[in-house]
Amino acid sequence: MTALNRLTMTEALTGLDRRDFTAVELTEAHIAAVATARPLNAFLVETPERAREMAIASDARRARGEAGLMDGLPIAIKDLFCTKDVATTAASKILQGFVPPYESTVTANLWQAGAVMLGKVNLDEFAMGSANVTSAYGPVVNPWSPGAPGAWPRRLVPGGSSGGSAAAVAARCALGATGTDTGGSIRQPAGFCGIVGIKPTYGRCSRWGIVAFASSLDQAGPMTRTVADTALMLQAMAGYDPKDSTSVNRSVPDYRAALTGDIRGLRVGIPAEYRVDGMPAEIERLWDQGVAWLRDAGAEPVAVRLPHTQYALATYYIVAPAEASSNLARYDGVRFGLRVDGDSLIEMYENTRGAGFGAEVRRRILIGTYVLSHGYYDAYYLKAQKVRTRIAEDFRAAFTACDVILTPTAPSTAFAIGERMDDPIQMYLNDVFTVPASLAGLPGLSVPAGLGADGLPLGLQLIGRPFDEETLLRVAGVIESAAAITTLPPFVA
Ligand code: GLN
Repeated sequence: MTALNRLTMTEALTGLDRRDFTAVELTEAHIAAVATARPLNAFLVETPERAREMAIASDARRARGEAGLMDGLPIAIKDLFCTKDVATTAASKILQGFVPPYESTVTANLWQAGAVMLGKVNLDEFAMGSANVTSAYGPVVNPWSPGAPGAWPRRLVPGGSSGGSAAAVAARCALGATGTDTGGSIRQPAGFCGIVGIKPTYGRCSRWGIVAFASSLDQAGPMTRTVADTALMLQAMAGYDPKDSTSVNRSVPDYRAALTGDIRGLRVGIPAEYRVDGMPAEIERLWDQGVAWLRDAGAEPVAVRLPHTQYALATYYIVAPAEASSNLARYDGVRFGLRVDGDSLIEMYENTRGAGFGAEVRRRILIGTYVLSHGYYDAYYLKAQKVRTRIAEDFRAAFTACDVILTPTAPSTAFAIGERMDDPIQMYLNDVFTVPASLAGLPGLSVPAGLGADGLPLGLQLIGRPFDEETLLRVAGVIESAAAITTLPPFVA
């Protein structure tokens, strides 16, 4: 670990512009950190050669005065984004051997901005999970796990599904990483690993070239160590894409300019329904602390109601599996990755899908197929769609009384690998605070706000109006300054 690994993106850009160091030097420091961090199992594919080529090209662009928004900054890519000529697995055996002949729009945007690819990072299989324990390539270890590699008394989960992304950024292997969030997969791991992550408004970032989980919910976003870096990376990722019919044709504002620190007069909604049963006292305290910080900065806390919150998880766990069961029908042993032969076509399908999908993915396909089946469609899927509309209406009403909503990100700090694994419902409860905004398509951001009694990071979540990422970033900047966390994860301390 060198001083270069401790820089934020913003600081690294200043150093590059001042010629304090080159993109090649910055990249080498991160390639070395990726190798040192192998015990975390964050990277599925390391691409050091490609990183070096990209860094050399970046230095040349800077010398010509043509540096882009993120020129020379080494980042990690969640292995759910298709990367041309680089294996893409979605952490599933069924995509073994799949090398995409195309690049996702979001990653193409990042390379266009000059970012450098360090490799592809681990995730829950097809992004289904909250702890990165469903990956076919093994769990990721949270760099906040106490002790040292090899002598970890408890290996903690990094959260999920973007667990590799969060661990790589927290462990200073990458200045930032892409994540995807269907029901919390950027925000919850950002919370568990003490970093910042934003799920933008549905439609803000293109989904083209991202392996689909639940198409009406999936959204890409950045994960970084500071709010300013999240603003910068979102700037590079966002934008209209004619190749994604749900991408929204609306200009991308200057997110970096949003970080004014001025939140005077802003109304911050506090939804009583998020005080769920059994929420640890320290999370309530953190939430109250967040309210106090914002009030001190001139914002006005207001109570808001989100009455259908209690139905959000059940609704999500109908809608998301329904869409997943349909999206995952394409893995048939013919078109992508794994094929396990059989005596007939049907048997080949069965053998391939039986061998290729892990237990959680199979569970989702079963639930999804069930709720979409004749006779159950109205009772489950249609009902869930109606409740989803109600949840969106709750938010619309709340946003007449407030400008942004503040809640905790997750109901606990990171737990140990192996815990909550035999009871899927326990695992699903992790998403209780993140899922409602996903169902409503709204932007949500998690910012580190404190440490729990166990010394582990806790995040606060901000939820905003559609396409109002700027307010989330501005308020998050205020929380970040007030919290002023300087503790490093034990892995890099
Ligand atoms: N944990 C949630 C799930 O398993 C959300 C995952 C995600 O956002 N990709 O569905």
